[in-house]
Amino acid sequence: MTFTPDEEQRIEAAIADAEQMTSSEIRLHVEDHCHEEALTHARKAFEKLGMHQTSERNAVLIYVALIDHQVAIYGDEGIHHTVGLNYWAKLVDIIVGHARTGDLTGGLVEAILELGRILKKYYPYQDDDVDELDNTISYGNREN
Ligand code: CA
Ligand code: CA
Repeated sequence: MTFTPDEEQRIEAAIADAEQMTSSEIRLHVEDHCHEEALTHARKAFEKLGMHQTSERNAVLIYVALIDHQVAIYGDEGIHHTVGLNYWAKLVDIIVGHARTGDLTGGLVEAILELGRILKKYYPYQDDDVDELDNTISYGNREN
């Protein structure tokens, strides 16, 4: 399973749009399989990608294991508790709901834009914003 170039472009555009609302950085990390609890794995991927190094410690990682149908969202220290666990669950539901109807990309786009809207309340976009983390999809652990 993989995203088509067109789907990748839609996702990356959604990340860029969301990051116009907030100073937070959003990334999507995609694998085929997840061999541990999805949130635990998302936290490890977050660190591996250096996402804990943003100046405001406010990056958020969306993690998807395509074949194992796992989704988790991990936000840096401050954010994860500020925003509230129910909220993260709601975003996961948006993604999973769309994925069930065969539109994972649509679910990711919607969740990313929604994430931008909520993060805006805590970390509004600044005029001198720097794109601290690449908006491209991070792929790990793929099967071919
Ligand atoms: Ca930024
Ligand atoms: Ca970015």
